[in-house]
Amino acid sequence: MRVYSIPMRTRFRGVTRREGVLVRGRAGWGEFSPFPEYGPAECARWLAAAREAAWDGWPAPVREAVPVNVTIPAVGPDRAFAMTKDSGCRTAKVKVAERGQTDADDLARVEAVRDAIGPDGRVRVDVNGGWDVDHAARMIRSLDRWELEYVEQPCATLEELALVRRRVDVPVAADESIRRAEDPLKVRAAGAADVAVLKVQPLGGVAAALRVAEACGLPVVVSSAVETSVGLAAGVALAAALPELPYACGLGTLSLLEGDVAGDPLWPVAGEIAVRRPVVDEEALRRWEAPDEARGGVWRERVAGAQAHLGGPAVIGAAP
Ligand SMILES: [Mg+2]
Repeated sequence: MRVYSIPMRTRFRGVTRREGVLVRGRAGWGEFSPFPEYGPAECARWLAAAREAAWDGWPAPVREAVPVNVTIPAVGPDRAFAMTKDSGCRTAKVKVAERGQTDADDLARVEAVRDAIGPDGRVRVDVNGGWDVDHAARMIRSLDRWELEYVEQPCATLEELALVRRRVDVPVAADESIRRAEDPLKVRAAGAADVAVLKVQPLGGVAAALRVAEACGLPVVVSSAVETSVGLAAGVALAAALPELPYACGLGTLSLLEGDVAGDPLWPVAGEIAVRRPVVDEEALRRWEAPDEARGGVWRERVAGAQAHLGGPAVIGAAP
């Protein structure tokens, strides 16, 4: 078990360093990197994903590359234009409804991204639950003059998502509403979304996420939890194994971290990530290894707590 700690280029979910555990088993490396606020029950699913990666391996891919989107944070229009152009991606996800900004800021940013990506590119917006229903209906209609592919989590609750969905023509994607395996089924039952955003670690692994995708019956966008290349590879494996992949995935997130543990990191090239499993580079890992024993202690405890909930063979120190 190795603990990594890599600074984030920009603050994300209130964290400035991304931390987690890397574990090696007979199938390869696995990553366990639940966010700090998660307790043992929730962490158990993240640990199951690491166990699958390290010991069981993943379902066979049906494609060789996965298209990914560039993510445009709440920056000004000039920067948004440049970031979109530089990415080489054919799909852009624009963050909107950032605290302290106005609707006019969002409109200007989306317009700049549409300009940069051209009429054939796709533009989606991610609201992170920041609007109420009326605000969402108004803004989505307004933003759709630049032809939105879909709007991600316009409001916080399922009930609100369902109401918004009935008031606009733009498809609605559920992200924050899906954190557990049961959630996508609720999203579907509530008629709350047209698209499901799935992440491997919170759902307990690639095979589990594939079952969720099948059960929920919605088109899926695979997204990362801002992992190293080890964790990203599991997201790529899920995206590669889905029978249909109509949308670009949110797996091009390595640029959010200052560094990576792989010798051949999972960078997108021309808007795609090749389906492969990068190898951990000992030198890179040593560079980002958590230096102090205290962090090691925190993570050993988190693994033990999650392991107690998960049951089954130990993920760390399991027999080959
Ligand atoms: Mg999102």
